[in-house]
Amino acid sequence: MKRRDGLARSGICHLEGTIIAFPAAVDTTMIFPGLGKTSFSNIPLSAGPEFVEKYWPGGQVSPVMIHPHHVSGPVSGDWVMVPGWHTALANPRNYVNWLTAMKAAVPLDTLWYAPATAIPSNAHILCYSGFDLFDFIACDLATSRGTFLLPEGEFDRKWMDAGVCNCDGCRSGDLKSHNRMALTKELALVSRFIAASRFREFVESRCRMHSTHVAIMRHLDSMYDLMEQVVPVARDVAFGATSGETLNRVEIRRFAQRVAERYIPPSADTAVLLPCSARKPYSLSQSHNKFTRAIQGRAHELIVTSPVGLVPRELELVYPAAHYDVPVTGYWDLEEKAFISGVIAKYLQKNNYRRVIAHLDGGALEVAKLGADIAGVELEFTCSGRRPTDSASLARLDATLDGCRRVKQDLLKGICSWQFGTVPDTAGLMSRGRYPAVKYSRNRVQMFSLDTGTGLIRPTFEGWKLLGEGYRVQISDFVPQGDILAPGVVSADPHIREGDEVLVVGPKVLATGKAAMGASEMSRSKRGVAVRVRKIKMRDGQ
Ligand SMILES: [Zn+2]
Repeated sequence: MKRRDGLARSGICHLEGTIIAFPAAVDTTMIFPGLGKTSFSNIPLSAGPEFVEKYWPGGQVSPVMIHPHHVSGPVSGDWVMVPGWHTALANPRNYVNWLTAMKAAVPLDTLWYAPATAIPSNAHILCYSGFDLFDFIACDLATSRGTFLLPEGEFDRKWMDAGVCNCDGCRSGDLKSHNRMALTKELALVSRFIAASRFREFVESRCRMHSTHVAIMRHLDSMYDLMEQVVPVARDVAFGATSGETLNRVEIRRFAQRVAERYIPPSADTAVLLPCSARKPYSLSQSHNKFTRAIQGRAHELIVTSPVGLVPRELELVYPAAHYDVPVTGYWDLEEKAFISGVIAKYLQKNNYRRVIAHLDGGALEVAKLGADIAGVELEFTCSGRRPTDSASLARLDATLDGCRRVKQDLLKGICSWQFGTVPDTAGLMSRGRYPAVKYSRNRVQMFSLDTGTGLIRPTFEGWKLLGEGYRVQISDFVPQGDILAPGVVSADPHIREGDEVLVVGPKVLATGKAAMGASEMSRSKRGVAVRVRKIKMRDGQ
C-alpha cells in the first residue's frame, strides 16, 4: 500500500518485472536500460526556457526527463527524472522554485528519480520534496574521495575506525559498502517515518546539520497553497511541536485560518481567554476543571496556546489541538508572539463579544494583549499577577461573570463549521455517549459521530443531508466493490483534503468514507485509492 506524507511517498511499485519498495536507491542502469544511451545531463537547471527548448533532446525513454522549463511529457504512472538535481541543493530558493514549478505541472501519480544526487545526509530532504528513487552514484563518488557518509553529514574516512557504525562495510574496512549501506538504511528509516505519519518531525530533526536543508524546508512552507493541497487535514498520531519551524507547518496555519474564517462560535456576549494545559483535550485536565467550575457556562471559552494559536472549546479535540506535544518553558519567542497575536486579532475582529476576559498570565497574557490591541478590543483581567489556577484568580473570574447569561455550547456546530465550512440544522438532534465519544441522532436514527482519534465529525447518510453540497466526490456509473479508486472519480469538491470525511455520489450508489488523497490528486490521478469507503448503499430506484 502506498503511504504519503505531504509530497513524500512510500510504497511498492513494479518495474520491468522487478518489485521496488520506494523510496529506494538502486542501480538504475539495470532497471532503465535506455538510461545509459541518453545525453541529458548537459542542460543546467538554471538554463532559461529558450535554451531548454533549443537543446532538449528528442526521443523519450523511460524515465521521462523533465526540467523546470520543460514539464510536458509525463503522464500518470510514468517514471520521471530530473537530471542535475544535485546542483539545486546548493541554492534553496532555486531548489524550491524549480521543484514547485515541476510538481504543479506533472501528475502527482508519477514516481520521481533524482540521478547522482542522494547521499545519507540529504536523503530526508529529497524524499520530503517528493523524490522516490535514487542511485548510488553520489555515494560512490564520495567513496572515491575518501569520504565517510552518515545521515549527520560527510566526514573523513578515519571516522570509520571510531566505532560510530558497525555495519558489515565498517567491520571489514570497506568504505564503498558502508556508504551505500548508510544510504539504504536512511531511506528505510524515511519510509518508516512516512508510514507512521511523523515524517515532518523526522525532517525537522535531520535538517539541523545543514543550513541549506533548513532553508529548503522553510521555503517549501512558504509555498502554502501547493503544500496545503497535499498535507492531510487530520492524523491520529501525536504532533511534535519541538522546533521553531512548527509554527509554519501547514497543519498549524490551516487550523488558525479555519478558526478565523470558517468557524462559527455559539451566540455569546462574553468570551474568556484561558491558558492551555499539558493534558489534552484540555477539558480533561485539572486546571480546566477549575476554570469550567468558575465559569459555569457563562462565557464562551477560548484557549490561547502555542503553536496552535487560539482553540475555541468546541475544537479542542480537532487535530492538531488535541495532538501537539510542545516543550513548556513559559517563554514565547517573537515569532510565536507575532503569529498567535495575529490569530487572536483576526478572531476578535470577526467575532464581536461585548466583553472579553483574559484569564491568563505570562506569555499567553502578553499575546492576548497584543492581539486585542490590534483588534481594538478592551480586555478585562482576572489574574492580576497570580497564576490562573490560584483560588483568588478563580474567585475573581467567577465574580466577574456574575449575572452573565449562559452560553449554549454546541460541539457539533462548532466542529462542522471548521471541518465543512457549513453548520447543520441541529434542531431535534440528541447526543449520547461519554465525551469525547459522542454520537448524535434524530428520532433514533444516527446522524453524526465524533472520531475521537482526529476530532472530526463523521456524518452518516442521513447526516450528510444536513450538510449542504460540499465535500462530495462524484463517481461514474459503477457499483464500487470496496474503496473508490482515482480513475472512478469524475469530480471532487476542491476543498477536500486527505483525511476528510466525504460523501461519494454516483448515478447508482452513495457511499460514506474518508478521502485518501486531496481533491486535485483524485481528479488528476489514474491510480491509487481516492476514498476509503465506510458504508455503501444503492440509490433509490436502482
Ligand atoms: Zn558502517
